Amino acid sequence: MADDRQASDPQATPLPRFIGSEIYRHSSYGAWHPLRVPRVSTVMDLSRALGWLPPDQFITSPRAKPSALTGFHTPAYLAALQAAETAQTVTEDVRRTHSLGTPSNPVFREMFRRPATSAGASLLAGELLKRGGVIYSPAGGTHHGLPDRANGFCYLNDPVLAIQSLRRNGAQRIAYIDIDAHHPDGVEYAFSDDPDTLQISVHEENRWPRTGQIGDMGKGQVFNLPVAAGLNDTEMALILDMLILPLVADFRPDAIVLQCGADAVTEDPQSRLTLSNNAHWAVVAALKPLALRYLVLGGGGYNPWSVGRLWTGVWATLNDHEIPDVLPPGAQGILGALTWVGPLRQHHPEPHWIATLRDTPREGAIRADVRADVHQLAARRVAWS
Ligand SMILES: [Zn+2]
Repeated sequence: MADDRQASDPQATPLPRFIGSEIYRHSSYGAWHPLRVPRVSTVMDLSRALGWLPPDQFITSPRAKPSALTGFHTPAYLAALQAAETAQTVTEDVRRTHSLGTPSNPVFREMFRRPATSAGASLLAGELLKRGGVIYSPAGGTHHGLPDRANGFCYLNDPVLAIQSLRRNGAQRIAYIDIDAHHPDGVEYAFSDDPDTLQISVHEENRWPRTGQIGDMGKGQVFNLPVAAGLNDTEMALILDMLILPLVADFRPDAIVLQCGADAVTEDPQSRLTLSNNAHWAVVAALKPLALRYLVLGGGGYNPWSVGRLWTGVWATLNDHEIPDVLPPGAQGILGALTWVGPLRQHHPEPHWIATLRDTPREGAIRADVRADVHQLAARRVAWS
């Protein structure tokens, strides 16, 4: 379906491009915040160590100006966010009004510049994908951000800005798929009334932000699949084959945005889902041929080893690079140098968190509830064509 469109314009699909920045390398939300760990810098370092990130595939992310963010965010909020970065403190009124300076959304050194950089990547991606292609921005995926307030570690909502930018640059029908452990409440808020934005989310049930019910319909284009703790790779393969791929194929999108949060794996401290990273890579690969434009974003991911390995494997998958069974010494050195100090103890890596990118698959039985919910949602499929 989309294949013939791609074949008609081979110049439109250059090599995948990686948008990154050094701003993430030493940035931390604070000593005890889950986002104290390095993530994007590990992906850049590992990809370079493996020879997967030549200069012509790397783009340094621009930083979005506040005026470029008003497609979703209010000027008052953007001004408050910038002022908080400058002052490194907030008033009680700003804390209450905009949820800045809270335990989840703390005041930190780059609290405007960092999210404005990942938002800049999403805005640029929409422009670069005008004629088609594949872009990876692992710093993106901040799917909880709201128009006038920070939410769930997200100060800006770069997936919303990406979808708006894709649309300004020629894409009409956009499919947003989110496999983070948490529901993308900010994205659903933005597009629940937009029949041209298909939204599919798989997330852990009864977990913050506790939105994303299976009964949410939007205009018929919103599909939420809350899943119980213990989701395994076999169940995710069923969800991919029976729900995600048929829905996206029916929708015939001009562009696909995949939020590939890394917090649904066993090793992550913020969810009780138990996927291996093979499950994420299977989704990344399967969606790639279904639209002319493909933007893959990061998202959650709070174990520095599992998030670095998973997201580096995403980049390998987008480029059809073979993932080695055993990493060469340089790449092992990057993983070996990571540290993860928690409130109670220092975590020590498992040997395979250093030696390989690929987890052992975590296959298992398909639970009746998962199968029933997939069938319930799949029954809502309509022919969009
Ligand atoms: Zn998450």
